[in-house]
Amino acid sequence: MTDSIPTNESPDEQQAPSTRESPAAKTRSSGALRPGNDAGLAMATRVVHAGREPRRFLGAVNTPVFRASTILFPTLDDLERASRGEYAGITYGLHGLPTVSDLQDALATVEGGDGALVLPSGLAATTFPLLALANPGDHVLVADSVYGPTRRFCEHHLRRLGVAVDYYDPLAGAAIARLMRPTTRIVFTESPGSLTFEVQDLPAIAAAAHAGGAIVILDNTWATPLGQRSFELGVDVSVHAATKYIGGHSDVLLGAVIANARTLPALTTLWTDLGVTPSPDDCFLALRGLRTLAVRLERHQSSALRIAAWLAERPEVEEVLYPALPGARGHALWKRDFALACGLFGVILKPVGHERLAAMLDGMRLFGMGWSWGGFESLIIPTWPERTRSATTWSAAGPCLRLHIGLEDPDDLIADLADGLSRLR
Ligand SMILES: *Cc1c(COP(=O)(O)O)cnc(C)c1O
Repeated sequence: MTDSIPTNESPDEQQAPSTRESPAAKTRSSGALRPGNDAGLAMATRVVHAGREPRRFLGAVNTPVFRASTILFPTLDDLERASRGEYAGITYGLHGLPTVSDLQDALATVEGGDGALVLPSGLAATTFPLLALANPGDHVLVADSVYGPTRRFCEHHLRRLGVAVDYYDPLAGAAIARLMRPTTRIVFTESPGSLTFEVQDLPAIAAAAHAGGAIVILDNTWATPLGQRSFELGVDVSVHAATKYIGGHSDVLLGAVIANARTLPALTTLWTDLGVTPSPDDCFLALRGLRTLAVRLERHQSSALRIAAWLAERPEVEEVLYPALPGARGHALWKRDFALACGLFGVILKPVGHERLAAMLDGMRLFGMGWSWGGFESLIIPTWPERTRSATTWSAAGPCLRLHIGLEDPDDLIADLADGLSRLR
């Protein structure tokens, strides 16, 4: 941790909070569901109880929104103690407001990490550990299927900082060992990829990375902390666009970085030094979303499975890219490593002209067209995976679509898709 911060400036510089021992932690009861204290409870129970202690807040079920910048000290002695990092309470709104720290604790507890940090967007969360953990002269391996803006950060900024970046076939598995250099510091994974849905063999990749002295970062947004137990698979840092299923209602942008003990100190130091705490209002919304995540995901998954199976039988469809679907690419690995799937999958259509595709998409009644996903509503967009690849090639003959299956009645969604596919002809 930062142990030699200058002590003569503004109060936010005083205290380098750890996520385990933040000022807020001192007011918590020891029986609460926190990182390292998950009591062996099931996932559906953890999302309801983690990071929540009503007795701290007049009995209110949810941790309230604490909006604060300045925190007032009762005496000069207290302020001086705070300047030495020895104060028992919160010292400034940037560190340790309960709405923020309870969300961090809840996410770390649910996924099984040693601590978590929240950031103002999912993109901030995917790029943040790269910035925190890669040093000039290091080499970083990034899955070719990675979320486009994460790749853009590597190209614009990791290279500028003197970090060498190579992209690798997401299906490499143990063969990643052949791409490792003595300077390889990070292997960045995203499984499944959010456009093309390749499932990565994370235990094999983690074993090779660790053998070479590297750490593994996983963009776990698709599976959420419930669907893919990242730390049990050997991952060191799991990142999430909480914007998606954790928020769950298409009304908040938020990111989360959940880490093990090996990586948490360096991440916490940069988080403190950059001052990238998100707003407590957004954290409140994410906490509220988290409470219903298990039940929402079950519905997203069951509807998506039904609709994916229906699409796979349609004459207009070349292939469905949904690892949870029996017979789909990646299904064996998904079955081995995942507890749940979500409502997001790809569809490769048979070749069709732009006008017909526009007729299909422009006329959808229930499926909206727009980026992001993970809300309660269904979405459909075209994707162009071939545009961002460099280590592998993507060659589908027809257009690629990405569907997000929301919480509507699946029969209504199937009817909308049936009408849409008929417009392709
Ligand atoms: C959406 C997304 C992000 C970025 O999240 P934002 O909150 O939109 O910045 C990162 N990774 C994946 C896989 C995503 O789908």
